Amino acid sequence: MSDCLFCKFVRREVRTKVVHEDESCFAFEDINPKAPVHILIIPKKHIDSINAMTSEDETVLGHLASVARKIANEKKVDQSGYRAVINTGPDAGQSVFHVHLHLLGGRPMAWPPG
Ligand code: AMP
Ligand code: ZN
Repeated sequence: MSDCLFCKFVRREVRTKVVHEDESCFAFEDINPKAPVHILIIPKKHIDSINAMTSEDETVLGHLASVARKIANEKKVDQSGYRAVINTGPDAGQSVFHVHLHLLGGRPMAWPPG
């Protein structure tokens, strides 16, 4: 996707604060953090949303969860707790249409979400 912002991060065409990179995924700091730790973890492959996933994407989405666990450990929120969120569609407030897992931690969070 040539005009997708998150694809531009992956291709290093636009600078961002990179937290992690491997063969299939990429993680960076959210520009408008909603918690002391707020990292976005994305597949390198462009997928619009969970609605656009195919069975081929199951492995990479599982990998996002593993990377979230590792980053939570590095950021020292693994014991205090954290949230891993993938907003999908209008009611969830998805604003960027390249699948991203929000890793949020470092403060207590309310449930249910607003
Ligand atoms: P969502 O609303 O779930 O689609 O989340 C999109 C997220 O992308 C929001 O938390 C934004 O703050 C974040 N975001 C938007 N533009 C940038 C950017 N240039 N760099 C880092 N994060 C961004
Ligand atoms: Zn993209």
